Amino acid sequence: MSYKDYQTARNAAWQILIDCHVDILPVDIRAICRRLGCKLYSYDAGWKLIAAFRLQEQTEKADGFTVLYRDVPYIFYSNSVPETRQRFTIAHEIGHIVLGHVGEGKYTIMNREPAPGDSADETQANQFAARILAPACVLNALDAVEVEQISLLCGISHQASEFRAKRMKQLRTRGKFLSHPLEREVMRQFEPFVMSRLESR
Ligand SMILES: [Zn+2]
Repeated sequence: MSYKDYQTARNAAWQILIDCHVDILPVDIRAICRRLGCKLYSYDAGWKLIAAFRLQEQTEKADGFTVLYRDVPYIFYSNSVPETRQRFTIAHEIGHIVLGHVGEGKYTIMNREPAPGDSADETQANQFAARILAPACVLNALDAVEVEQISLLCGISHQASEFRAKRMKQLRTRGKFLSHPLEREVMRQFEPFVMSRLESR
């Protein structure tokens, strides 16, 4: 996984937050999905389509997958896991779409657990998902650096929050915030939300 791939995922997450005018946490990931023109179905709601695509097998192996059909991305996700996990899966699949991993007649999947053998695409989609659901500059402004805080604020699992908390500590040590114009734009968008949270303390 190269630094360039990481930058691409990070910048794409910022760009989508900006394009979709996201200004509060937890991020409404389903609304982003609709806004980007993706069709979104839980495995239960989308079973007929899944059968038509002949991808029933995927529902047993993965928490989510995306199919591009006639230029429209269809995201399917497991609704038998906690909401926090559903959100991450949807964000991960959006990552595959905006990062250009999904081609006609191909499909991407969300593995049950991140594994060392994951492809670069998988890593990139996870980086995108973490960054769109838990933007570092907003967490920093709210001093949300502990696992539980991040989990509650962003609606992500304990496990995903642990990764993010670790990352926040690194970023805060380096004081690396708002040096990129896209990140500054995201921060401007979130400012009223941050102010109201700080005032209500
Ligand atoms: Zn994936």
